[in-house]
Amino acid sequence: MIYKRSSALFAEAQKYIPGGVNSPVRAFNAVGGEPVFVKEAKGAYLYDEDGNKLIDYIASWGPMILGHAHQPVIDAVVDKAQKGTSFGIPTEIETEIAKLAVSMVPNIDKIRFVNSGTEACMSAVRLARGYKGRDKIIKFAGCYHGHSDSFLIQAGSGAVTFGSPNSPGVTQGTAKDTLLARYNDLDNVEELLKANKEEVAAIILEPVAGNMGCIIPKPGFLEGLRKLCDEHGVLLIFDEVMTGFRLAKGGAQELLNIKADIVCFGKVIGGGLPVGAFASRNEIMNHLAPLGPVYQAGTLSGNPLAMAAGLAMLSELNENPEIFSSLSEKTAYLHKGLTKVLNDAKIPYTINRLGSMISVHFTEEAVVDFDSAAKGNNDTFKKFFHGMLAEGVYLPPSAFESWFLNDALTYDDLDYTINAVNKVLRSLA
Ligand code: PMP
Repeated sequence: MIYKRSSALFAEAQKYIPGGVNSPVRAFNAVGGEPVFVKEAKGAYLYDEDGNKLIDYIASWGPMILGHAHQPVIDAVVDKAQKGTSFGIPTEIETEIAKLAVSMVPNIDKIRFVNSGTEACMSAVRLARGYKGRDKIIKFAGCYHGHSDSFLIQAGSGAVTFGSPNSPGVTQGTAKDTLLARYNDLDNVEELLKANKEEVAAIILEPVAGNMGCIIPKPGFLEGLRKLCDEHGVLLIFDEVMTGFRLAKGGAQELLNIKADIVCFGKVIGGGLPVGAFASRNEIMNHLAPLGPVYQAGTLSGNPLAMAAGLAMLSELNENPEIFSSLSEKTAYLHKGLTKVLNDAKIPYTINRLGSMISVHFTEEAVVDFDSAAKGNNDTFKKFFHGMLAEGVYLPPSAFESWFLNDALTYDDLDYTINAVNKVLRSLA
């Protein structure tokens, strides 16, 4: 494929935007080479600036669950735009989408809309701290909750006592309130809770992790966390930015039958516009301003275009819940096809999948947490990624990201993808 124009656009972008991108992973820093610039997209396909057509397996990192430029979403946005793009004054559509979201998701009475997943998680943590009157939180290594300071933390030398910043600019003061745990390791969480008695406000996690490749909670892990939270008076925050309105109407809470105290959303809930949200039962949500003392606000929060896109998207998912099983079946089909060609190629691998989240880890060992994900062969992944791109398949440009299927993908697209994987693996062997 030719990437002449993408390359020229990237060179120009780098003059004016740090690294040429507005979010780091887009720069292909994890896989090397230069990013593709997209011109437009429709359904399951991206069309780049050089006229290449690519089958898309990132779906804007999740939101485009029904495919790109989905007509009901586009119509809703265009119609709203004619009537004004922002008021900073209440609008009816905010209640409409809130009412629908509350009816779709278990265990929530009220929802507050924000502008990104980062904002949702950051606000959820502030609410939990304010509600509990405690400062510390527990997060899991490899789970991503956006780029707010409290989450940019790695395990410190005294891992049971406090974490340390993993980005310059995050202060030690902030880091000391974030404790790091291993995903799928209940004993580790219990140890942290015991060492920090009555200091932990919340445990936050991705109920199915998508930011270290796809990682599935082991049977009993989420149930165990729920129990530990109840025993220690700690709130359980599910970051469903990836899983919300993707794994099921009610997200991971519904699919895995676990009750969270606060739930964070992003991606699908905004239909591709910048939206996030966090939600909980009345008792907790009523602590938020203007009802309660915990402050949280946003000039563009509940923006009419964003709400129109989100409402169109959620309405369709609500009315056609068979979309979730259709997506899951497509992903299972891909899983089966990939298993066959990977076995034939005799390349060590592990595939993790749940619903429409899937990823191939180039290691034979079970991938259950960040450390096991890090054992994946990154050189193989890089070659695999570029090989697939050359075949016209756009995978996430990092081994630490889940693939997201969208319902516009056809079985022909999946067969094409499986054949492309076969071809690329043979060139690697
Ligand atoms: N939480 C999770 C689970 C995510 O995957 C992401 C983004 N990939 C975020 C939070 C942050 O969302 P945003 O990029 O919209 O700020």
